[in-house]
Amino acid sequence: DSAPICDRAKTTCPYCGVGCGVTATIEGGAITAVEGDRQHPANYGRLCVKGSALHETLGQQGRLTRPWVDGAEVDWDVALDAVASRLTAIRTEHGNQALAAYLSGQLLTEDYYVANKLFKGFLGTPHLDTNSRLCMASAVAGYKRAFGADAVPCCYEDLEEAELVVLVGSNLAWNHPVLYQRIKVAKTRNPLMRVVVIDPRVTDSCEIADLYLGLKPGSDARLFNGLLSWMAAKGKLDKLYLTRHTQGFDEALAAAREEASDLESVAADCDLDAEALETFYYWFASQLHVVTLYSQGVNQSSSGTDKCNAIINCHLAGGKLGLPGAGPFSITGQPNAMGGREVGGLANQLAAHMDYHTPGAIDRVTRFWRTASLTPTLPEGPGHKAVELFSAIERGEVQALWVMATNPAVSLPDAARVRAALAKCPLVIVSECVTDTDLLAYANIVLPASSWSEKDGTVTNSERCISRQRGLLPPPGDARHDWWIMCEVAKRLGYGEAFAYAHPSEIFDEHARLSGFENTAEPAGARRLFDISGLAGLDRVAYDALAPIQWPVTAQAPRGTARLFEDGHFATDNGLARLVPITPRGPEQRLSAARPLRLNTGRIRDQWHTMTRTARAPRLMNHRAEPFIEVHPDDAVAYGVADQRLALLSSEAGEYRARVRVAKSQRAGEVFVPMHWSDRFTKQARSGALITGHTDPLSGQPESKHGAVALAPL
Ligand code: SF4
Repeated sequence: DSAPICDRAKTTCPYCGVGCGVTATIEGGAITAVEGDRQHPANYGRLCVKGSALHETLGQQGRLTRPWVDGAEVDWDVALDAVASRLTAIRTEHGNQALAAYLSGQLLTEDYYVANKLFKGFLGTPHLDTNSRLCMASAVAGYKRAFGADAVPCCYEDLEEAELVVLVGSNLAWNHPVLYQRIKVAKTRNPLMRVVVIDPRVTDSCEIADLYLGLKPGSDARLFNGLLSWMAAKGKLDKLYLTRHTQGFDEALAAAREEASDLESVAADCDLDAEALETFYYWFASQLHVVTLYSQGVNQSSSGTDKCNAIINCHLAGGKLGLPGAGPFSITGQPNAMGGREVGGLANQLAAHMDYHTPGAIDRVTRFWRTASLTPTLPEGPGHKAVELFSAIERGEVQALWVMATNPAVSLPDAARVRAALAKCPLVIVSECVTDTDLLAYANIVLPASSWSEKDGTVTNSERCISRQRGLLPPPGDARHDWWIMCEVAKRLGYGEAFAYAHPSEIFDEHARLSGFENTAEPAGARRLFDISGLAGLDRVAYDALAPIQWPVTAQAPRGTARLFEDGHFATDNGLARLVPITPRGPEQRLSAARPLRLNTGRIRDQWHTMTRTARAPRLMNHRAEPFIEVHPDDAVAYGVADQRLALLSSEAGEYRARVRVAKSQRAGEVFVPMHWSDRFTKQARSGALITGHTDPLSGQPESKHGAVALAPL
């Protein structure tokens, strides 16, 4: 397909889950400038430093432009035949479940839809998961337990309408900068608005904080259980809301009170000043319009789901939900983590926000995809989640892996084991844009994929807003769109009729129709939150012109839905939200005399993931030019390391070498390293080498923020 000829066009930023609208200027076949889209409801013209440098990260240098099979350049027919024949051979010998896919929140929803349909619907394997597992799986599991559906109740305007915004485990100023800017402006306009930052590190987000609580890492659930107990003791519950709209309050309160629930005990356990903690409790309890915004600091934990529910419990107990300026709001890391969830791109999902155990789900999807005549039909239960998936490869159970738009050799925990698993996997297919990622060393077949600004499709941001990414330039060389590549393979596998899409608008239409497709097992009036059937039937012109819109989008809500649960009716069997009893658990990775320091990992302001794109812009490298180890001054003395001198971190899983930054913003007893650097830049400083494979038992999300390490000078 040829690229449209135009000089200014709207698209969406490919970085974080804020999902800002971008207006690109195209001159001489290149994007020469970008600015914020003034009409886009995520950003109204704003961009952060990463977004504003998008045009500086493009160009053909370093792009993959030809397919490779076994190390040799080939044409597309040879590559696609090789994919189809090798998948078939492994499937024939080892069965459907020997096949797996590992996807990415960087993919567009249409790519995700085709991958999910191909692997689960036609290849009959449930083993399709995504790097979004590392980002928001605990938030998904928490919402499902509380609301009966993975449904983010809030919208960005709630952040501006709140009287109190609580940031938990979120350095919004660096990781979701445009939302931070929106809160900052709202705070200027409303002097009564307060912001509380709850984070072990003093971050740039504290600049707007009225109160900072530098809690002990991992003590979040204890803090929010304490809040629930405090609200009950002080008569600050919304009893009418609890009675009419919830269940499980007594059990949740009993669990919260199981450990000593007096303020001093909670403060001591969280390593906080009791007076400061009570100030937060008082502010939370006395405001109706409270948004608690949480991110990876909550999710990336072996008890991440419980932490999410401890937060949601407090909102339900106070009736702070389904109102303007109120609700528990999970912010995703990636641009399309939400879109992946919509199509079923998690291993525990089937399709269209349905789990395998959703009544009638398998029948509904089988009828819609017309797979009843296939042998075998749809898988009957969940597949391996990300970390488990690579263990299954290590055990030889999964023999073929297709990775798209992600680099698990760097980003997964216990990276040495992941690399060993990839090395022994008989078939590794990698769809990728660039030539020098660490993963390509393990690939048997490499497929060059189109990238941002070259492909058409949709993404969904953290407030459920579906936005168009637009193809403004032709892909370089022989690079192709991911959905096209998968459809070509599907045709070679004999499924051509089901994958005969000529344009992503046709995929989007099918996705929208499935979201509203009849489920005969569902009781009449059942609450189905993910329904975008109001967007079915868009032709190419309408699809291309699609303006940002928040799901659900139905005949009753044709303009979308800004806020969920305004009527107090939830997606559980009886319509009541659930408070979940939470017993706080500490990190799985225990500190010891040999590894006495708590390791925290995260992003830095100007980089994105493994830097394949952002490292191309010199100005983005100015902020932090190299990896580092952030250390509290007391620990620097205790462990004999000095500012700007090299040091070694070692964990059960591996080692990390970088220069020390001594910083008072760091808690004593804790060190922080950035997650971005890979072997492309240095073989010494991959954070994934330090993280062990402990995961949350409910969500499967790795505990990336609670390592146990030793620190020594080099
Ligand atoms: Fe892009 Fe996120 Fe920055 Fe917006 S805030 S411009 S989506 S990186």
